[in-house]
Amino acid sequence: MPTTRDQRPTTRIGYGFDSHEFRRGIPLKIGGITLAHDKGLGGHSDGDVLLHAITDALLGAVAAPDIGALFPPSDPKWKGADSVVFLREALKRVRDAGYLVANMDASLILAAPKIGPHAATIRVRVAQLLGVHADCVGLKAKTPEGLNLENAAIAHAVVLLEKLANPKKTRKNK
Ligand SMILES: [Zn+2]
Repeated sequence: MPTTRDQRPTTRIGYGFDSHEFRRGIPLKIGGITLAHDKGLGGHSDGDVLLHAITDALLGAVAAPDIGALFPPSDPKWKGADSVVFLREALKRVRDAGYLVANMDASLILAAPKIGPHAATIRVRVAQLLGVHADCVGLKAKTPEGLNLENAAIAHAVVLLEKLANPKKTRKNK
């Protein structure tokens, strides 16, 4: 057991996973960016699979309830909602617990569209949302080889949090 007065660990790790099914006729949002594609991701809110995985990673890192518990898909309030709202709530809980995001790394698994041409834009947007530099946001995209998941998008995300020296003096970063 730690013997110091502040028993919070210096760093904490969080992991998140999400998946959504492609549907025709809705916009495709990944990492807060709308991508040109003939299909979007259906289900909870705007279906932003990457922001959902990152949100769950942040919540998990501070042992908070997960995204489905905080924003139930059954609640019509969240239908079509901007997933940035979920991410901001998770970040608030991280800060309230006395931590800041050090870095985030994610993998996307989807057959189409190709993420490569959009990766830089997505990384910059996610970095802006997390309040970190773009070089603290990792993003890899893979096709679902051998998984028979041509109509799904999957995201895995891990975050590392760092303890704030003095949580009481925290200022929200944009
Ligand atoms: Zn989701």
